[in-house]
Amino acid sequence: MTKVVIIGGGPGGYEAALVAVQLGADVTIVDRDGIGGACVLTDCVPSKTLIATSVRSTYVREAARLGIDVAESDGRPGVSVDLATVDARVKRLAQAQSDDTAARVVKEGVEVIPGEARLVDPKIVAVGDRRIRADVVLVATGAHPRELPSAKPDGERILTWRHLYDLDRLPEKLIVVGSGVTGAEFANAYQGLGSEVTLVSSRERVMPTQDADAAEVLEGVFRRLGMTVLSKTRAESVANTGDGVLVTLSDGRTVEGSHCLMTVGMIPNTADLGLEEVGVRLDDGGFVQVDRVSRTSTSGVYAAGDCTGVNMLASVAAMQGRIAMWHALGEAVSPLKLSTVASTVFTHPELASVGATEGDVRSGRIDARVVNLPLDTNPRAKMTNSKDGFVKLICRQHTGIVMGGVIVGPRASELILAVSVAVQQRLTVDDLAHTFAVYPSLSGSVTEAARSLMQASPE
Ligand SMILES: Cc1cc2nc3c(=O)[nH]c(=O)nc-3n(C[C@H](O)[C@H](O)[C@H](O)COP(=O)(O)OP(=O)(O)OC[C@H]3O[C@@H](n4cnc5c(N)ncnc54)[C@H](O)[C@@H]3O)c2cc1C
Repeated sequence: MTKVVIIGGGPGGYEAALVAVQLGADVTIVDRDGIGGACVLTDCVPSKTLIATSVRSTYVREAARLGIDVAESDGRPGVSVDLATVDARVKRLAQAQSDDTAARVVKEGVEVIPGEARLVDPKIVAVGDRRIRADVVLVATGAHPRELPSAKPDGERILTWRHLYDLDRLPEKLIVVGSGVTGAEFANAYQGLGSEVTLVSSRERVMPTQDADAAEVLEGVFRRLGMTVLSKTRAESVANTGDGVLVTLSDGRTVEGSHCLMTVGMIPNTADLGLEEVGVRLDDGGFVQVDRVSRTSTSGVYAAGDCTGVNMLASVAAMQGRIAMWHALGEAVSPLKLSTVASTVFTHPELASVGATEGDVRSGRIDARVVNLPLDTNPRAKMTNSKDGFVKLICRQHTGIVMGGVIVGPRASELILAVSVAVQQRLTVDDLAHTFAVYPSLSGSVTEAARSLMQASPE
């Protein structure tokens, strides 16, 4: 029986473990913080739980516009959240999800060892004094928040997202440094909870890695709801002044707030693991270098998830882990294909995307047609007062095969599935256009966008 040892119990690790036991391997996971990893315990699941509360607070605030009476205070619909209750729920839910996942892997026959692991040989994993022999090792150790020396998080006023659920009250004036996906999600979430938010963005617009039209819509929503977005400037330093924070910007300006949340990137958890000593190559940022079947430069050692920096999403981590096990245990396997990964930014409205981008079309990398259908013409969007958003579809110039799409709107994370299926299955815009959508529905905009990309057949 092949002995598999997995270091790290996040989605990169536990999903791999489930595949490995299914294929008959003897599997051990070593994890130091809890099964489910940072994904379940501190990052993805807690943030989405918090966002769920934030979104509902926003619904209530906006309810009056749909004819619902809401008590007013100071001329605004009166909604306030009890942060202690919110945070207790976030932590309870995260722990319950971790417990469920741990129970599942143990039930399937995986041995779980709590502790910190390192490699002492490509085939030996050390946990304290214990040595575990392995035929195959999977490194799935994740990553942690990057810190700036001039803005060291103290957990009190200068925070990373892992400190957020231990605050005793809602930050009155929250400054979020970094306007990538994580920064934008938290800025929007705390805005929804009732904080006054300033977002510091080093770029011209927020979320520079996302579709430009989508980022513009969201930045417009943020500003309209009162967020201050400071563009093209960096936080040089952040100081805890005792009763607040003082952020000094690269252009010399200063911003005062009650708390500062730093979202300036991730550092892989690859130090002190013994990786380079056993020949595993890391890149300059410390990320494990892997090929598309998750192999590292050392035979028998695989890596998956955020520690590889490939595309820091739970779904990608899980797929890399599964691919590693299929490959290591001799199953047929398709290499990781990033061109079909769907992802969502959980702002309100949400921004979901999959496949090729409009940037790919504009740069000439692909020969394709693009349509952008604003949501404000959609009857369901009008009924729910959801006018911010659009459906963008990209299809091959000649064949009409759907190559990608972007949806900004409520529940875009759910709506994108139709486009994902089309991209994965190489469906054409005609296929999508002939598919029934419910009337009235937001998904009606997906089929309508497809219809507008149809071309008359040549005579
Ligand atoms: C705020 C935030 C929100 C996010 N939201 C989403 C989202 O909505 N959707 C999405 O797809 N992705 C999201 N992500 C990304 C997602 O959380 C990561 O991609 C995912 O956690 C990666 O999984 P992983 O298995 O690589 O690592 P992790 O989930 O980080 O798990 C790694 C595990 O390894 C353990 N470990 C590390 N070193 C050792 C060692 N030496 N010995 C033993 N154990 C060790 C750690 O303690 C941890 O338990 C979000 C990330 C952040 C920061």
